[in-house]
Amino acid sequence: MTRNGDPLLLTPGPLTTTETVKQAMLHDWGSRDEAFIAMTAEVRDRLRAAAGQGEDFTAVPIQGSGTFAVEAMLGTFLDPDAGVLILVNGAYGRRMIEICRRLGRRAEAYEVAETEVHDPAEVARRLAADPSLAHVVAIQCETTSGILNPVAEIGEAVATAGRRLLIDAMSGFGAIPLGSIPVSYDALAASSNKCIQGVPGLGFVICRTAALQAAKGHAPFLSLDLHDQWRGFEGNGQWRYTPPTQVLAAFRQALREHADEGGVAGRGERYRRNCAVLVEGMKGLGFEPLLPAAVQAPIIVTFRTPDLSGFSFDTLYEGMKDRGFVIYPGKITEAETFRIGCIGDLDESDMRAAVAAAAAALADMGVDLRGAAA
Ligand SMILES: *Cc1c(COP(=O)(O)O)cnc(C)c1O
Repeated sequence: MTRNGDPLLLTPGPLTTTETVKQAMLHDWGSRDEAFIAMTAEVRDRLRAAAGQGEDFTAVPIQGSGTFAVEAMLGTFLDPDAGVLILVNGAYGRRMIEICRRLGRRAEAYEVAETEVHDPAEVARRLAADPSLAHVVAIQCETTSGILNPVAEIGEAVATAGRRLLIDAMSGFGAIPLGSIPVSYDALAASSNKCIQGVPGLGFVICRTAALQAAKGHAPFLSLDLHDQWRGFEGNGQWRYTPPTQVLAAFRQALREHADEGGVAGRGERYRRNCAVLVEGMKGLGFEPLLPAAVQAPIIVTFRTPDLSGFSFDTLYEGMKDRGFVIYPGKITEAETFRIGCIGDLDESDMRAAVAAAAAALADMGVDLRGAAA
């Protein structure tokens, strides 16, 4: 299964994009020309709408990958004189601890196992114990395992304690609502190449304008200062420094297609079906998902690497690649695993074909996992 001769990407991004998103890049734009200024404004408006926010919020795109947006958010919003509680259950949480260390911001980690979610009551306890913790940072979907953290319930604990919430919504934004209850946050960060299905090169932060104004002067850096970036957009509609013009054009097209699919609800529905077909099919072959279904986000699924002589992940990878599917190695520390994503321009038939490719790769290895399990 290939498209344009390329394999389908069953990864957490960059991912398989539509033909029309790719075609949107076949032009040149002057970054200070009115056509590009209008494109920037449309993207910012559509992002705020995708977040379900009104006039009191603003969207600030920033050049770079998702980590650049997370670093921009932390450096801009964290008070240099206060502390931050970071909820860690995977590599992306640990990366935020490292960012805070580099920025000279005092971070406390509330870390649980990579297969467990955080307890909102424990968040409340830690905030009560340390009034100097002004912010809490939570990750909606920890892509390390694919786990869905209870951001809404954590948000309630943070709001009750009178603190401010920042969210790494990177891998779920556009497909998974933050929660079934409204979540009060100051800022969330995400990027162009995940559930919105754009190409890589752009991050963005959607934030409460008043909180952004209050954060003026916090940032220890120039190019990632979201307050200054926002002032630039509000001033003349332009980017402060060279924007990734083709990436933004692709992203605008991707945002239009996201809205046409029914926004967060429509996109999430397709990904949930993709995920269900994938999990059921792989279980049928004898693979075991790492996470219980209750905490599995429909973004990327971690499977345990079978402990069976004759099975090799590299051979599975190559066998699936030969059949037109790129999968992903594991990232969690506590078990041997690999990951298969269900996001991007993919549907149920693609996921069924991916499972068939995995079955064929197993047959090549002469391995039958169902026999092993029985
Ligand atoms: C993808 C991702 C990021 C950003 O990673 P980049 O490689 O910099 O794009 C951050 N947090 C989470 C949870 C992610 O899934």
